[in-house]
Amino acid sequence: MGIIVDKEKCIGCRKCMKSCPFESIVMEDKYPVIGSSCTNCGQCVENCKFGALSKSEEGSAEVDLGLYHGVWVFAEQREGKIMPVVIELLGEGRKLADALNTELAAVLCGSQIGGLAEELFAGGADKVYLADAPELENYTTDAYSKVIEEAVNTYKPEIVLYGATHIGRDLGPVLAVKANTGLTADCTKLEIGEDRSLMMTRPAFGGNLMATIRCPKHRPQMSTVRPGVMKKAESIPGRKGEIIDLAPVFAEGDIRTKVLEVVKAVGETVSLTDADIIVAGGKGTGGPEGFKLLQKLADKLGGTLAGSRAAVDEGWIEKARQVGQTGTTVKPKLYIACGISGAIQHLAGMQDSGQIVAINTNEAAPIFEVADYGIVGNLFQVIPAILEALEA
Ligand code: FAD
Ligand code: SF4
Repeated sequence: MGIIVDKEKCIGCRKCMKSCPFESIVMEDKYPVIGSSCTNCGQCVENCKFGALSKSEEGSAEVDLGLYHGVWVFAEQREGKIMPVVIELLGEGRKLADALNTELAAVLCGSQIGGLAEELFAGGADKVYLADAPELENYTTDAYSKVIEEAVNTYKPEIVLYGATHIGRDLGPVLAVKANTGLTADCTKLEIGEDRSLMMTRPAFGGNLMATIRCPKHRPQMSTVRPGVMKKAESIPGRKGEIIDLAPVFAEGDIRTKVLEVVKAVGETVSLTDADIIVAGGKGTGGPEGFKLLQKLADKLGGTLAGSRAAVDEGWIEKARQVGQTGTTVKPKLYIACGISGAIQHLAGMQDSGQIVAINTNEAAPIFEVADYGIVGNLFQVIPAILEALEA
């Protein structure tokens, strides 16, 4: 699809250029030229009084939606371990599959990983599409996307869900392009609409509003979901399912990259999503010294240290510990927010915590609106007092 310019009708008025919300149009020799950032939204077509622009429908052949059935979850595994987000996606996928009265399947790729199917069945998968080959031992975009593209073309799932991990964020868009469909990234809510379509909700415009997105004309409907957002599927040990062997075959040149070595990032790994207690600090901590005080409280409670983006931007705490829309989504039993104002982008990542305690000098800070317990006060006085009480 694309925008066609009829030079016979165009008078070079530049109105289309001004109307394009994506600044995709430039004028060359008095005629509009459409750039690669064009989304085919049609604004320019509507704005051209001279009928000089039209939408080409080439390549937009109608997809027979009725051919597509089933909900698939990409079962990301690393070194033979299923990623926790997969179990969350199975929980969500089960709900979607039940609402559609269809089956839930997992797509598992790797080398010698067949044994992991049991975990996926226990998590609610009715089927596991298994691609087991030495070429799939380490993730490569070429190998994984080739195998899954072939499976999608053969079995035609209605929905495919990926965790918004590094791998999921790479694989999902590639497969969406290969399947000529759309993908909604970082969804926080998924539900089935009246017409069986997947309603994919995600924050938009810096988190100031929630947008619900549909993919009405193409299949599969695809979305990525960030770890920690959906509830984990309850495990039913011994639950059985069907394994479908995808029997992948690779020709020379199919995989253009070679993994020579896997080097793990050195340093402490942080798992905010698994933490029961989080002590988080914001700009109000005033610097690294403030974070040392928070660390004392975290150590005393057996908790994990985290921070707001403002604190991360200041370099007071590492990015891996950022909570919020562009950080990690957490659901601990206890979240203690110290010197954090409670911007919507921060709340998006922690408001589902079990109990929220907020310490802030400003009684009007928005964090108090989501807090179960609010302490209006200076954290440099409040935290030592809590520590003292805990020592007693
Ligand atoms: P501030 O807003 O500056 O708040 C500091 C608070 O500390 C104030 O309420 C103040 O009253 C209090 N305070 C000061 N001194 C003390 C003291 N001694 N004792 C107690 N309280 C004190 N933010 C995130 O956190 N996570 C995200 O993932 C994230 N993603 C974003 C994505 C986008 C697209 C955008 C536009 C923004 C994003 N932000 C995110 C930034 C967000 O909008 C806020 O700017 C940020 O959360 C503010 O951090 P803060 O609360 O630490 O700082
Ligand atoms: Fe711009 Fe939309 Fe016209 Fe494309 S279709 S050039 S994005 S106004």
